[in-house]
This record gives sequence, structure tokens and C-alpha cells, in this order.
Amino acid sequence: MDIVILLGAPGSGKGTVAGKLAATNGNLKHVSSGDLLRGAVAKGTEAGKQAKEAMEAGKLVADELIATMIKDVVAETSGDVTMLLDGFPRNLAQAKILDEMGAPVKSAVLIDVPDEIIQDRIAGRRTCPKCKAGYHVKNLPPKVEGVCDICGEKLTIRKDDNPDTVKDRLVVYHQQTEPLIAFYRDKGILKTVDGTTGVDQVAADFIKAM
Ligand code: AMP
Repeated sequence: MDIVILLGAPGSGKGTVAGKLAATNGNLKHVSSGDLLRGAVAKGTEAGKQAKEAMEAGKLVADELIATMIKDVVAETSGDVTMLLDGFPRNLAQAKILDEMGAPVKSAVLIDVPDEIIQDRIAGRRTCPKCKAGYHVKNLPPKVEGVCDICGEKLTIRKDDNPDTVKDRLVVYHQQTEPLIAFYRDKGILKTVDGTTGVDQVAADFIKAM
């Protein structure tokens, strides 16, 4: 098993690209820290209860809380698999936790999208609460408006996708997550792809870069 970290602002397309690649390649496993946390909140687990407030405010949850979930997923993954790790690490402390775990990080790929485009992208984002497929009303619409192509579930808007919370999430990204770009560049494993070219092109560029 090895790990490819996806870096990029909220709404840069990390989940869309990782989901698309994993759906067509059995050796790729998409692990989203946001999905793990939303699952815990929906189930009402102790971790979910602790995470809920920070998530709704667009803040980061405690490092140990999410790190424990990621450690479990890493421990249960083996064989000829590349894990596409989406949303973790989110700050330098988490990157160090990943290093201390001895996680086999092969590369970190930054999906680069300017903030102006992010606001518009998130405003149109729709998600399937059941199978987690992501859509966008303009850029990636479902075949039937408001309905998931894959499982037929009614699409929803994430609670933290409202414009005020998005602004807070972008501030958190620039302050806490962006320093990871230099961290992985210094390790010599940073790659960058242009995240503004459309889902298929970004996915193709991502595969080449990783
Ligand atoms: P995402 O789906 O990656 O945009 O994550 C949604 C929310 O989950 C974030 O705004 C945070 O509140 C929380 N979250 C996800 N990943 C992490 C992480 N690695 N560290 C702390 N909080 C996280």
C-alpha cells in the first residue's frame, strides 16, 4: 500500500477527482476525512458528537480525533492499493502524525484553484447523502435535477457550504493547510495540477502527477 495526499482548498475538486479515479480503478482507494467525520456525526458516535460543532462552524476538528480515524483506515488497508487521502493532513501537526505513523506517503498532489472560483463552485455543489457522489448544478449536473445518477437518492447541500461558512473555511485553509505545500515541497514529493480545466482533464493530469 502507498498513499497519495490530495492538497487543495475546499471546493478545489479533491473529492470529485479522487472519487472518479477510484470508481474506475480497483487499485485506488478514496479516503475522505470529511466523509469519515460526516459519517460519525450521522451515526451519533462519541467522535461525531465531538466533531459536529467545529464542522458546522467551518473550523478544524481536534487533530487526535481525526488522526485516530485515519490511523484505523491505514491499518486496515494493505496489498496492491494506492490510498488517495483527501482532507488529511489539514495542518502541520497532522502531517507530523502521519510521518510518525510510518505511513508510506508517495506524493502530495496540489489541485490548484484560485479563491474567486472556489466561492462559485461551492455555491453550486450538491452531494448524495447515501453514496457520497458529488455534483455541481452547472459544471457536473446529474441527469435528473436533484437526484443522484448512481443510487437515485435526493441530493443535498452540505450544511457547511453556505457562503459565510465557506469564507471561514477558506481562511482556515490559507492559515493552517497551505503551509503543507512547502512541507511536502521540502520533502521533494509535491506535484501541482491546474484545477480549473474540468473534471476529466484534472483527473488525467492528477494520474500523471501522482
Ligand atoms: P471536507 O469534507 O474535507 O471539506 O471537511 C469538512 C469538515 O470536516 C472540515 O471543514 C472540518 O471541520 C472537518 N475536517 C475534515 N478533515 C479534517 C482534518 N484533517 N482535520 C480537522 N478537521 C477536518
